[in-house]
Amino acid sequence: MADTSKRIADLAQRQPAQLRALEHRHAAAAARPLARALADAEADAQQRWMMATTPHQAIPSTANLQSLIEHVRKSLEAAFYGQGAYATAEAQRAAYAAAALGIQNASRITGLLRGVAPPVNIPVSTGPVSDRAAGAIQAGVQEEHSHALALLTAAGLTAFGLAGLKSVFTRARRAVSRITAGIATAITSAAANAALLVARHLGPGVRLLWVAEPGACPACAAYAGRSIPLGGHFPGGLSLDPRRTVFLTSIPGPPRHPHCRCVVVPWHPRWTTSGTPLPTLLQRLARAGTRRPTVPAQRTA
Ligand SMILES: [Zn+2]
Repeated sequence: MADTSKRIADLAQRQPAQLRALEHRHAAAAARPLARALADAEADAQQRWMMATTPHQAIPSTANLQSLIEHVRKSLEAAFYGQGAYATAEAQRAAYAAAALGIQNASRITGLLRGVAPPVNIPVSTGPVSDRAAGAIQAGVQEEHSHALALLTAAGLTAFGLAGLKSVFTRARRAVSRITAGIATAITSAAANAALLVARHLGPGVRLLWVAEPGACPACAAYAGRSIPLGGHFPGGLSLDPRRTVFLTSIPGPPRHPHCRCVVVPWHPRWTTSGTPLPTLLQRLARAGTRRPTVPAQRTA
């Protein structure tokens, strides 16, 4: 009669793919206007640099250089205008969608685990970690804008020429990564918070059980099958590959790192399933499927 652990683990492990899809959709929407504006501004700046230089004069004259710098400063201003606020609003929308999805998933899994689904009218809330991540995007974008401007100097452009001009835009583009990382954190945190909201309806002794993203990194895989009481923290410093342990702080739940799509589900030691106990099964699945860590910004899948 009871559902097997395998079926529940399969269901829980589908959620990371849903979070990844949300992340891609909202990150693209949030970052695209800034990415395009910066690409246009860079093409324009390079064109102006070419027009102000010759094969015999690698650096524009002092007057031309000053006017070029002023022009680029204004284009950066225009490119960045309103982008932080726009991306934050997109992150908030993404987090809300993730929280709604998380409540659905946690409710469904809980229904299978204990035979009775939790109440259907749990209000959607994204939670403090997600809200902080979304709110921090604006400051992050402003910070990268300032760093880019700090490289835009007559001394820098005279010393490094066109490469110096390019480095201004390379630095500015870090704001795009700040947006996508902020959105990813807002989404995964909101989904984890949703599991907590559902768990609070299920009475004493309920815990949050970590489900690693299929193909998780060695750090995340080490958390699979671990559980904490509500309001508790997962320990820091876990990893299946100790040489890769870089995350030392304890955390209330996923994400363990930017672009981590691990999830938590409500769980009670007395909710038994047929087959391998669920925590053991989740641990085995994670150990079997761990991948080498990759730099999140370079991931394209
Ligand atoms: Zn993870």
